[in-house]
Amino acid sequence: MSDNKNNNDTSNNDEYEKYCYMCRRPESIAGKLMMFSPSIYVCPDCMQRTFNSVNNNAMQFMDFSKFKDFGDLGDLSSLLHQNDIKDSQRVKKRKPKDEAKKKEKADEFENLTLDKIPAPHKIKALLDEYVIGQDYAKKVISVAVYNHYKRVLTDTMDEIEIEKSNMLMIGPTGCGKTYLVKTIAKLLNVPLAITDATTLTEAGYIGDDVESILSKLLAACDNDVEKAEKGIVFIDEIDKLAKKKETHSRDISGEAVQQGLLKILEGAEVEVPVGSGSKNAMTPTTTMNTRNILFIVGGAFPELEEIIAARLTKQASIGFGADLRDDIKNDPNILSKVTNEDLRAFGMIPEFLGRLPVIYTLSALDKDMYVKILKEPKNAILKQYQKLLMLDEVDLKFDDSAYEAIAELALKRKTGARALRSIIEEFMLDIMYQIPKDDNIGRVIITGDYINKKGAPIIELRGI
Ligand code: ADP
Repeated sequence: MSDNKNNNDTSNNDEYEKYCYMCRRPESIAGKLMMFSPSIYVCPDCMQRTFNSVNNNAMQFMDFSKFKDFGDLGDLSSLLHQNDIKDSQRVKKRKPKDEAKKKEKADEFENLTLDKIPAPHKIKALLDEYVIGQDYAKKVISVAVYNHYKRVLTDTMDEIEIEKSNMLMIGPTGCGKTYLVKTIAKLLNVPLAITDATTLTEAGYIGDDVESILSKLLAACDNDVEKAEKGIVFIDEIDKLAKKKETHSRDISGEAVQQGLLKILEGAEVEVPVGSGSKNAMTPTTTMNTRNILFIVGGAFPELEEIIAARLTKQASIGFGADLRDDIKNDPNILSKVTNEDLRAFGMIPEFLGRLPVIYTLSALDKDMYVKILKEPKNAILKQYQKLLMLDEVDLKFDDSAYEAIAELALKRKTGARALRSIIEEFMLDIMYQIPKDDNIGRVIITGDYINKKGAPIIELRGI
């Protein structure tokens, strides 16, 4: 009610405390507000964000927190207006160089046609070349993506409407959730936006609005709305949006974001800011239809295992003994028994889950899988180093004990396959620094002892 009063009765503003149009904080908390129009005020923090986003971060040197009074800035609204115009021109008018870049990107995301979409078993075979293990997840994603694009490209929305196959992926950190999505988007040549649910907040609060996800997708295909409307969006850390259990304040970054996502997951016409994360008067916007965008959300869902175990134990307690309860607790695949009921108990709202018809789990990686990740994928990180040294005509080799040692170290770090990269970077630093110094070196063999800091790598000279 006070909003209306504020908007309509501008002559009598003093009766009500002014609040920032963007973050909704009152002046007593946000600091001196600047008047944009008789009913729109903006605080120094939001002004800073707006300037940064309008100017693509080019004005970060201006620190608005230092201005005690906005009078110091002169006529800011006209300056903002100018920047606004510049920004929209940037969207519409492209320099010739940009045109070339756009064409390149357009080729990259060549129009998909139905006969170009590989059958699910072929998609899976392609995924196998990059992603190790996770067979079930690869199968599910191949079928879901195949169906999705069949639905999109044939556009047979007659009386039997094929529903979208948005997906929820559950799996521990570093097991390949993001990697799987990235790989499939690359293989199918569709634009992809990856975003983190923790940055999202309810519209009007500090943080990114849910529409910012679509802005990213738009940016991924150079603001080509038609292409973006057939893209894939991956939202990571979705478990962080679980309803807060004991909170007396409004849950602006949890349940409210789940609510905010409902509309775009389902398919709707959405006003999307172009080139910025937040919608405001200064950002140019465009309309996007999300009906054909495939949404994949993922998260580690810590403690979900306990929820599943408690449910299974409750069911088992009717007529079964303690043995079975122990089996349930120690089952390594307990996560794969997840149901909607468990996810609701975790804090996901039913409407949100209802829009994610495909739910599947990925398993934690074991030592053998780590070794395979080191050796097998087409772009395996060790192969990348081998290629780099090959350019110096040095042959880089790893013996079996080296693979084992790296895998064991990675297991201890408990951050999934991500640990492999950091371990490799650590020990490769010295090699990459020392080897190019000496032209006589023809081969380097990395051993387990070198990884465990118990010895040096084996160096072989050229011509020996
Ligand atoms: P998360 O499950 O937390 O999203 P990521 O998919 O980002 O983890 O994995 C981090 C990195 O680890 C990837 O970039 C990829 O190089 C590697 N990786 C993870 N899982 C696999 C896998 N199953 N096969 C091959 N590489 C993997």
